[in-house]
Order: sequence, then C-alpha cells, then structure tokens
Amino acid sequence: MQGKLYRGRFAPSPTGPLHAGSLVTALASWLDARVQDGVWLVRLEDVDGPRCVPGASEQILHQLASCGLVSDEPVVQQSQRTALYQKALNRLIQRQLAFLCGCSRKDIEGALAARGEHTERHHNAIYPGTCRPERGGLKGKPARAWRLAVPEASNITWTDLQMGPQQQNVAQAVGDFVLKRADGLWAYQLAVVVDDAEQGITRVVRGQDLMDNTPRQIVLQTALEMPRPSYRHVPLVLGEDGEKLSKQNGAQALDLSHPTEALSLAAKHLGLPPALGSIAERLQTWVNAWSCATIATLNAERDLS
Ligand code: GLU
Repeated sequence: MQGKLYRGRFAPSPTGPLHAGSLVTALASWLDARVQDGVWLVRLEDVDGPRCVPGASEQILHQLASCGLVSDEPVVQQSQRTALYQKALNRLIQRQLAFLCGCSRKDIEGALAARGEHTERHHNAIYPGTCRPERGGLKGKPARAWRLAVPEASNITWTDLQMGPQQQNVAQAVGDFVLKRADGLWAYQLAVVVDDAEQGITRVVRGQDLMDNTPRQIVLQTALEMPRPSYRHVPLVLGEDGEKLSKQNGAQALDLSHPTEALSLAAKHLGLPPALGSIAERLQTWVNAWSCATIATLNAERDLS
C-alpha cells in the first residue's frame, strides 16, 4: 500500500434503505479511507434489478449525506456498466476460462446423487463440472449460465486486516461458480471484481458476511489479470435472532431525524470512543481513533508487501 493512493468504496445494493448494520460498513469504509488520505467512493450495486426497490438508491445516498458521508467521485451504478461485464466475460471465454452450462439446480443435485456425493455449501450443491468442455460441454442441452472454470490449483490464502490469515480451496469448496446467471443477470462476483479493478480500488472494507466471497473474487482477479485489493471485513450488527440485521428480521431504516445518534451507534459497534459535537466533529474524533487502531494494521501490511 505504501506510495499507492488508497481508493476504497462502499457498495450497497439498493434493495431497501440503509439500516444500522449497513451504516456500520459505510462508516468503517469511510474512516479507513480518510485515515489514509484516500478516496472514498459509493457504488450502487443494482445489478440484480428484480431485487432492487425503486427509490432506494436515492434514499441511500440521502441517508449517507445526512451522516456526512459523501462519495469523493460521481456515484456509479452497476446497471449502467453491463458493457464492462460483457467485456470481462469475453476475455474469459477467449482464454477458455469460462464455459456455458445447461444444468438446473435439480440437474446438479441429480448428478451429485448419481456419484454418491452430497457436497453442499450454504444449501447450494457444489457444481460437479458436468458441462465443462473437457467433459463434452452442453451435450445438446440448452445453455443457461456462464461459469468460471475454476483451476484445480485454486488454494487461495490471504490476510484479512480484521480477521487475520484466511484460506480456501475454491475448486473444492465452491467449484465452477456462475458469472452470468440463467436469467441473464450478471453475477455479483463478476460485477464486483470488474468494478473494483476498473475503479482502481486498493482496499475493500465490507461486512464479515461477505468474507466467504473473497477467495472467489481473488480467483477471478487472477483469471482476468486484475490487481488484488487488500481486504478488511468488519463485524456485523446482529438482529435479535442472532442473524445479520436485515429487512427480514426487522431492521429499521435509519432515522434521518437523528443522524448523529445513528452514527454514534455505528461508531460504538466499531469499538470507537464516544464523541461530541457536530457530525463533522464527531467524524474527526473517530478518524483519529481509527487512525490509532489501524497503525498496527498498516505496519503488518507493510511487512507483508
Ligand atoms: N452489494 C453488496 C451488499 O450490499 C456489497 C458488495 C461488496 O461490498 O463487495 O451486500
């Protein structure tokens, strides 16, 4: 990181307004960028159109602004960037790293059962490679999705700045994952990797629920010869049911009439000290506190590079 301009981002999906949990991530990514005199960007991840709620993007930007968090560059929207995703897919196809798959979920489960395998991960069967070109491709089935041919040698290791050393063998744990879905929508993994590279993101700060995606994203970065940012996965705010705070377990939209309180709660969750004064003054207090907390991290990162 030394000598390289820090570029970070907050990338909400406009499936609803910000709630207490998403504000924690927004604040953490903003503080992390400010501490390093970096650039902080907001990217609206509206690539999954059917899940997006009309007006949510505007509402999110308004909520962020009332908390003093404003993108340093024009906000980008994934729905406007499909040409970039297609270009990346074309590169993968040219390099024979992407292939068409005609399997439904049922086909995949059937193929696994026939092999006496029950490989499952987060309730998803691990793709058994049925339509890989070396196994004969679609064999007459209609094409549904594009998948990445995950190389056998895909044992990914990285050091998360919050969570420490991590490891995952993507071929074994996930298999050939989807790049473009059967419904024609771009998969999160492809869109996020292309956008992070295209926007020159050097540090990804996001919630711990997304940490499991990181090895897949590193595999894709390698396949597309794109740089790998550093990662910091911050603790989630949990609902009363112990699950990540979400609309499903009753997360309330942030109350814009009290942005300082909402921000103070988010800061407390990040282990930051209480702060007083205007929003700008409080943010400055937390930048200083974050700065102390990240010195150790910066040193560690320097040692790694
Ligand atoms: N759009 C994702 C979400 O709202 C975040 C993606 C990311 O930070 O990589 O959960």
